[in-house]
Amino acid sequence: MTRLLIRGGRVIDPAAGVDLQGDVLVDEGRIVAVAAGLAPESAEVLDARGLVVCPGFVDPHAHLCEPGGEHRETIATGAMAAAAGGYTAVVAMPDTDPVVDDPASVGFVVAAGRRARGARVFPAAAVSAGRRGEHLTEFGEVVDAGAVAVSDAGRSVKSSKLMRLALEYARSFGIPVLARPEDAGLASGGVMHEGVVSTRLGLRGKPAAAEEIGAARDLALAGMTGGRLHMQRVSTAAAATLIRRSLARGVGVSAEVTAHHLLLTHEVVADYGTEYKVDPPLRTTVDVEAVRAALADGTIGCIATDHTPCHYDEKEQAFDDAPFGAVGLETTFAVLHTHLVTTGILELGTLVERMSTGPARALGFPGGTLKPGQAADLALVDPEARWKIDPAEFLSKCRNTPFAGEEVTGRVVRTLVGGRTVWSAVADGA
Ligand SMILES: [Zn+2]
Repeated sequence: MTRLLIRGGRVIDPAAGVDLQGDVLVDEGRIVAVAAGLAPESAEVLDARGLVVCPGFVDPHAHLCEPGGEHRETIATGAMAAAAGGYTAVVAMPDTDPVVDDPASVGFVVAAGRRARGARVFPAAAVSAGRRGEHLTEFGEVVDAGAVAVSDAGRSVKSSKLMRLALEYARSFGIPVLARPEDAGLASGGVMHEGVVSTRLGLRGKPAAAEEIGAARDLALAGMTGGRLHMQRVSTAAAATLIRRSLARGVGVSAEVTAHHLLLTHEVVADYGTEYKVDPPLRTTVDVEAVRAALADGTIGCIATDHTPCHYDEKEQAFDDAPFGAVGLETTFAVLHTHLVTTGILELGTLVERMSTGPARALGFPGGTLKPGQAADLALVDPEARWKIDPAEFLSKCRNTPFAGEEVTGRVVRTLVGGRTVWSAVADGA
């Protein structure tokens, strides 16, 4: 592999506090130097003038649906959709069919990820066998096979005793438990946020308190065990407050929020649009303000896509019957850049941090930075590019996005993994 000089971009590396006009030199797939005016003797040059050059995004939470849901997504299509969104690493949730809960199934995802072109794919294994919440999976075996975390993906671990054990074992293997904070009994049957809109529409709601109760329990257990808790998809002001307090007490917790929970409220469900049926549900303006503030101050250090492909026919059903979920790999950067960065709510450097460095740190990955010696996993972004989100152009197999038709500003134009271009807005074969 020849040397590659990415020249003249705005280089942002939040981990190193770098934000400069300059160059990134890559050799043998690794970053060699970041500085202004680099002039190596021989290198292929990539013109990055007008572009932002930053660490590739790391998604701590995506559903790639394989094995068992290949009509929705495969590891190959998911990895390419991720690359098109600037992601260089994605954690695949284990809620597949069969569930990823043993070394063979973890090995399957690892192997399929290696074959895929696009972002790196890392499996999370289930916390409990079959995600049934009864017996722990063999953490040692799934970690040896390549699992980077454990998660019952979408289900909270019902038994507090089992969750305690999970945090204790995960600690001894150096991995986080990715957990959804929810009291399942209180939330059961709900299809949207419980509030004025659900009452008006006659739909059953999930109260915000279900998330608050789940968060309080998991934070208490994380504090007690010293295990690493990563709270998935925070959607309420109450949960954000609990996390902030726990961090102040030194509890080992990280947290993520999705683009849709940062940008949309339950009011958008007014016409029963199933593209807005997500889990946890879209909440109130107060909640949106609170998760934005928590993202800005670092209480929530990660942005996740919770990429959940749903087939067109499935989402065509009545609101009550349609599945939860939205795709997000190809839109998350653009919608957040448009609504939070160009509006002055969030610094571009902070958005990059929460999409790359933050998740890498939460997961214990080496990536998320441009430090010399690191793998050259990079995203190149045109912050001025205006485009319209057209789901027909998605590389994902599914189109279920709440942002269809939106005019956005800011586009990922190239993604490199290990110094190699895995996706480019212009086909140049670089
Ligand atoms: Zn999910």
